[in-house]
Amino acid sequence: MARRRQLYEGKAKILFEGPEPGTLVQYFKDDATAGNGAKKGTITGKGVLNNRISEYLMMKLTEIGIPNHFVRRLNMREQLIREVEIIPLEVVVRNVAAGSLATRLGIPEGTRLPRSIIEYYYKSDALNDPMVGEEHITAFGWATTHDIDDIVAMSLRINDFLAGLFLGVGITLIDFKLEYGRLWEDEDMRIVLADEISPDNCRLWDVHTNEKMDKDRFRRDLGKVEEAYQEVAKRLGILPEAGTRDMKGPETMQ
Ligand code: C5P
Repeated sequence: MARRRQLYEGKAKILFEGPEPGTLVQYFKDDATAGNGAKKGTITGKGVLNNRISEYLMMKLTEIGIPNHFVRRLNMREQLIREVEIIPLEVVVRNVAAGSLATRLGIPEGTRLPRSIIEYYYKSDALNDPMVGEEHITAFGWATTHDIDDIVAMSLRINDFLAGLFLGVGITLIDFKLEYGRLWEDEDMRIVLADEISPDNCRLWDVHTNEKMDKDRFRRDLGKVEEAYQEVAKRLGILPEAGTRDMKGPETMQ
């Protein structure tokens, strides 16, 4: 395999130059971090599972007309994506109080919110991804009010769709984080969903037991992390055919 140019290495993924202009290869690592890198570890097989889970969810979202960067899966740990200009925001959608919302406002974890809430965080490791409002986003030029309207409309549709999809397999979608990017086609720009959707950036609880089936198991040292990710894939009907034998996957190809 020819060596490819690595463009960016994040905490859970690596981006390589794609085979054609305007494409990238997104490689999913087993590395896990929490608290902006304060806690580091490995979740065996996570990259393989997140590659599958994110592929599945992005394809489902394509079916309902949500534009996104996913093109196709290439192998166990890699997918081909469209190159987009990432908007430096983490868009969090919440249905049930948990995590930082529960802590910040003193609402017990598990309290159903009166309606879905969207929050924005400025993507900056150096600043610990601070929460920001529309005023900051428009004043500092990260996105226009029109961009924000698009982002809100897409995020709410994604939430409705994914909440229903997960409920169908016995999982409550508590909250999740999305990232968006600008896709340029000649002079035209549209905002598309980017990054990934997986148990790394969603809170997923079993409908009956409220057992956590997401990265909180790693963040909070609850154990059975790999098993939780596998269970999500299994319920979605997308566990790799060879089961856990498939999990290790190839090392990073460069
Ligand atoms: O920590 P907090 O409660 O704000 O997280 C809300 C949601 O956003 C959770 O599903 C979490 O997994 C996700 N998130 C993320 N990346 C971050 C912060 C939060 O994926 N840097």
